[in-house]
Amino acid sequence: MTYVTRFAPSPTGPLHIGHAYSALTAFRRARAEGGSFLLRIEDIDRARSRDEYERQIFEDLHWLGLDWPQPVMRQSDRMPAYRAALDRLIDMGLCYPCNCTRGDIRAALSAPQEGTPIEGPDGIIYPGTCRGRSMADAGPTDAIRLDMTRATAHLDALPAFRETGPLFGGVHPLVANDLTVQIGDVILARKDMGTSYHLSVVVDDAEQGVTEVVRGADLFSATWIHVLLQALLGLPILQYYHHGLVRDDTGKRLAKRDDARSIRAYRDDGLSPDQVIEMAGLPVTPSAT
Ligand code: GLU
Repeated sequence: MTYVTRFAPSPTGPLHIGHAYSALTAFRRARAEGGSFLLRIEDIDRARSRDEYERQIFEDLHWLGLDWPQPVMRQSDRMPAYRAALDRLIDMGLCYPCNCTRGDIRAALSAPQEGTPIEGPDGIIYPGTCRGRSMADAGPTDAIRLDMTRATAHLDALPAFRETGPLFGGVHPLVANDLTVQIGDVILARKDMGTSYHLSVVVDDAEQGVTEVVRGADLFSATWIHVLLQALLGLPILQYYHHGLVRDDTGKRLAKRDDARSIRAYRDDGLSPDQVIEMAGLPVTPSAT
């Protein structure tokens, strides 16, 4: 099978060094495998996405020496595909509507018998307050959640995925108890979006024929959700490569919300693409990877 990977940024802020690392790693893996590298714009969060950031993503990646086939998939064009996938999961009886606010969730978890709330990939694990609700009474202000216990029980056998990265390399079978305890009933469709990161990524990776997803180690447990959704939706189970995260001088992970310095800022300071590649901690010549 021809190797296909992708880089899938959200145009909600400028790309930083961590993005450069991820995009270059994916691009170089595609080159080394004689496969393709795709770019996808993850702009389902219409309130935070900006055309200006999208333009800057193209510019920064070209400046770093990357190229990709056209047209670029844009998630805001793909809502009917996400709706169809959501409807399938609803028809399988695996979803329920939920109108809990963050405050409701915190309040439910502050009961003394609840112990310390566990953090999953989407924040605090949902305590299941709305789990008894039926999809028949879903209203416009409801999010749609996946009932994780039902979802894991729905499959005859839980899938396993292959990981080829430096940190988690090997075959990882999904474990029902890990999914219910460490992930919980994730949101598949946010009320303001009609979809979610998890659902749209799975639908799009399948549509684009991606064979290996290259991304940061912070998304490792989100990968369990994606592999589960692939199995539930009858899509191919993908291979994953999770890379380490770029840290600043103090060892703190670089993230957009911490005002990490953007690639654009380094360009404006007169750094060369090779200097930025080196700062990301990658060899300048791809053959050395
Ligand atoms: N849009 C996601 C991000 O920017 C993509 C993560 C992924 O590769 O699935 O974090």
